[in-house]
Amino acid sequence: MSRPIKAILHTNNMAHNLQIITSSVKAHPENQNKTIKRLAVIKANAYGHGLAAAMEGFKDADGFGMIDLEDAAVLRKNGVTQDILLLEGFFHKSDIKTMLNLGVSTAIHSPYQINYLKEELPRLVSRGFKPVNLFIKFNTGMNRLGFKPSEAQKVYEQLAEFKSTGLIKSIGSMMHFANADTDNRDAEVVRIEEEFVKNCMNLGGHEVPVSLCNSAACVRYPRFAGIATENWIRPGSVLYGSQYFPNLNEQNVVHNFKPAMSLVADIIAIQNLKAGDSVGYGSKFTATKDCRIAVVACGYADGYPRSATNETEVGVLGKRAKLAGRVSMDMIAIDISHIPEANIGTPVVLWGEGGPNIDEAAQMCGRISYELICGITPRVPKVLDNGQS
Ligand SMILES: *Cc1c(COP(=O)(O)O)cnc(C)c1O
Repeated sequence: MSRPIKAILHTNNMAHNLQIITSSVKAHPENQNKTIKRLAVIKANAYGHGLAAAMEGFKDADGFGMIDLEDAAVLRKNGVTQDILLLEGFFHKSDIKTMLNLGVSTAIHSPYQINYLKEELPRLVSRGFKPVNLFIKFNTGMNRLGFKPSEAQKVYEQLAEFKSTGLIKSIGSMMHFANADTDNRDAEVVRIEEEFVKNCMNLGGHEVPVSLCNSAACVRYPRFAGIATENWIRPGSVLYGSQYFPNLNEQNVVHNFKPAMSLVADIIAIQNLKAGDSVGYGSKFTATKDCRIAVVACGYADGYPRSATNETEVGVLGKRAKLAGRVSMDMIAIDISHIPEANIGTPVVLWGEGGPNIDEAAQMCGRISYELICGITPRVPKVLDNGQS
């Protein structure tokens, strides 16, 4: 038998979360009669959940957004027929052929990508490839990727020339919010209106498909999620049960996102301490009274953050227990003095169902949810659970 730790992937909850974010965006009064398609974002191995869980949990999505062509190949090999969009576009000229081979659409954020298309597309005509979509990525303040909104018509015209190859289906516009998950966002909203909405939605004399909103923007700006006739939303974190938006409650927005992952490890040893005894490297926990300590088969080599402190909580048999001492490579210790029913073999929930949710767990470790879920290491077995069994 293997070491008693696993990441349980709740594919039913993943499907639920996709449904919740979709219906919340569609419920916005200005979004009636709009087409709102959903690209489930599954970059970074589906935020650490694995592509198998993503394909199962998000099978109702209209498409998938990702970074790696290798991941796109895995999806196609597994029979995924929905749209796939490379959110950062392709990196090398040779990727273009692979993309067309897999029927993968791409973001275009820089002139070198247009040059690669100019060189490569004519060679690939009449090879029987199905046409793919292009999304021009505009820089609306993040200053990572994208063209200036003022260049929109020019970039569109350059790309529209490739339509004669028969390899381009449609050309749309996309952008990415820098501040949707912060409290400092009014200026950004003005900027999106004045730059993106004004310059990037009507190109070549007609309205193009657009894609604006990640999770935080879907929740905070449902109006932007449906601003055009054809919209593609790009939720990631909320699909995995995270709602890392400070002060969201000020707007009384309550979304019932459910955990996509439960990280569970068993108790493998019990220590009974006397007052004054310490636990772990550096003796960072010292018992103030007699107490019962459980050693759990999960450490930082599994992806559990070493920044967790004695105030970090875990779930044990429906109760909360706190860490005792430093996180080791393969173990943590927890104080279970108040949970006498816990014993060798009792499962401990580091985060997920029966323990702190991913945002709470992250906060208690001074991290954000994305870091925790993406940080699960390959040695942790993944178990899919659709809630039926
Ligand atoms: C990661 C990413 C998303 C999803 O972001 P969340 O905050 O996880 O919803 C959407 N769009 C782009 C371009 C991304 O890189």
